[in-house]
Amino acid sequence: MTKIGRNDLCPCGSGRKYKKCCFQKSEQGYASNNAPPIKLSEAILQIAEPLMNKYPKREHITVLIDLAVFAWNISLASGEKREEIEDKVIELMPEELDAVDIAAIVEQADMLVERKNKLYPAREYRVLRYFNAA
Ligand SMILES: [Zn+2]
Repeated sequence: MTKIGRNDLCPCGSGRKYKKCCFQKSEQGYASNNAPPIKLSEAILQIAEPLMNKYPKREHITVLIDLAVFAWNISLASGEKREEIEDKVIELMPEELDAVDIAAIVEQADMLVERKNKLYPAREYRVLRYFNAA
């Protein structure tokens, strides 16, 4: 068996580097990730959990999920991109929430980023909101 270098093009033809593609699905990839596959939807809910307990109102749920998605992506992004994502998430906030609520919730974003890094340190998949998949 020929050994594929981590920085070689992936043999599946995706055009991405092996380490960013099928390596992650390989046994070796699992070992280095040290984690089983996850459903991102469950991961997002898990990350948002402390906030969901704190803000249990129904109209908060969409915001909390957006924020957890935001936290996930922001943990992968660098400076400029972070600001872009931040602006976007504030735009997505529903009108029925007042500014105080939104500010209080957005303040928790750092905690969510920390939670993501702690719970899913090796996960590099970007997450898109279902209605925002542009
Ligand atoms: Zn591949």
